[in-house]
Amino acid sequence: MSFNVFSLNTHLEQAIRHCGYTAPTPIQQQAIPPILERRDLLGLAQTGTGKTAAFALPLVQHLMQVPGNKIRALILAPTRELAEQINEFICKIIQNTRLRSVSVYGGVSKQAQISRVRNGVDIVVACPGRLLDLLNEKAVDLSQVETLILDEADHMFDKGFLPDIRRILRQLPKDRQTLVFSATMPAEIRHLAEDILHDPVTVQINPTRSVKSIAHLLYAVEQGQKTDLLIHLLKDVEMATTLVFTRTKYKAKNLALKLAQSGFKATSLQGNLSQSKRQQALDGFKSGAFSVLVATDIAARGIDVTGISHVVNYDMPDTAEAYIHRTGRTGRASLTGEALTFATSEDGRMIRVIELVLDEKMRQQTATAIPFARQERVEPRIEIKRPGTANSPPKAKAAPKGSSENRSRRNRPASAGVFGLSGRSK
Ligand code: AMP
Repeated sequence: MSFNVFSLNTHLEQAIRHCGYTAPTPIQQQAIPPILERRDLLGLAQTGTGKTAAFALPLVQHLMQVPGNKIRALILAPTRELAEQINEFICKIIQNTRLRSVSVYGGVSKQAQISRVRNGVDIVVACPGRLLDLLNEKAVDLSQVETLILDEADHMFDKGFLPDIRRILRQLPKDRQTLVFSATMPAEIRHLAEDILHDPVTVQINPTRSVKSIAHLLYAVEQGQKTDLLIHLLKDVEMATTLVFTRTKYKAKNLALKLAQSGFKATSLQGNLSQSKRQQALDGFKSGAFSVLVATDIAARGIDVTGISHVVNYDMPDTAEAYIHRTGRTGRASLTGEALTFATSEDGRMIRVIELVLDEKMRQQTATAIPFARQERVEPRIEIKRPGTANSPPKAKAAPKGSSENRSRRNRPASAGVFGLSGRSK
């Protein structure tokens, strides 16, 4: 299928080529036609499916067809990073048109945002908190909004934004197009969707399945040995762009410091950072100045960095959805990636839940010679192979660089090698 079927205007066709997209992704195939018809839509799609272009292309087509000089589209996103990414994409596709888009979120100067809005914008991409501030100060007027888009609605709910969203909704005209995107459908989001969508088209893109281009690997390890294991793994040349998830902000910061002290180009992205530091970390990771980014779930939500080769679950996520979100950062838009999950004896239940959702078994990497690997069999699915005696674990044999031991774990059988690591020097 080609983008031609949507009969988008020549400006957008050019913009699509400029982005390097040759064929629409499944969500684009299904969502663009009804959005162009100005239907309401409920999109059940996880990150990495191409949903930004799925709503932005038909939105811009509409705005270009019917000119106006007020805020005509409002896009709400749960995090600053996601708002910034959506705005960046929109700015790219509206380049050389008369349309203007602005992002509005906290942590940066309010005045600069207010003056940009006052200078005239068609599209506002906002986080709810700062937008409410601006509404209270009467700095924005949403009375002419024709299209409302709620992105990552489930995450809005997780972050407690639903009351803010309902307050914002009161400022919008009732007669508008509304699009809601969410990876999951908690009851609260279902209720909100029922309230605000009129006769919506529902588009569902494997909401509970992970992207198939990701290999899911499982490492059994003791809690106190995770950092050593990570350092060991990061020495693999293939781990060129690695996103590591920890449970807390504090851990993310300390782990990034430890990795940096060990010689890795590592930084952290967590809620305790100022907006400028967050942006620095993200830009540095995008540009390759940092090859490892340690993040918490909330901070990493919506991160769109193409070419993330590995996602490491240093700490097990709390839900299968969080696992899908985390690992969706790799293997994006037809690239392949590996998701490495560190599991302690307490994580057996969550592994089973994740495997059920993935509808596949995670590939267990056996630990035969890593001194820090868990050496007892604790949980049936997290098994450690012991070739030597318990008291004298065999030493890892160095394999020459470029040998099969140094190649991807993806294609190795689950039992091959020592975490598939025997070729790495320590
Ligand atoms: P999203 O789900 O919107 O965050 O998009 C995920 C990634 O897919 C982004 O890096 C997009 O640039 C990329 N992408 C979106 N649509 C396409 C497409 N039709 N072909 C190739 N890549 C795409």
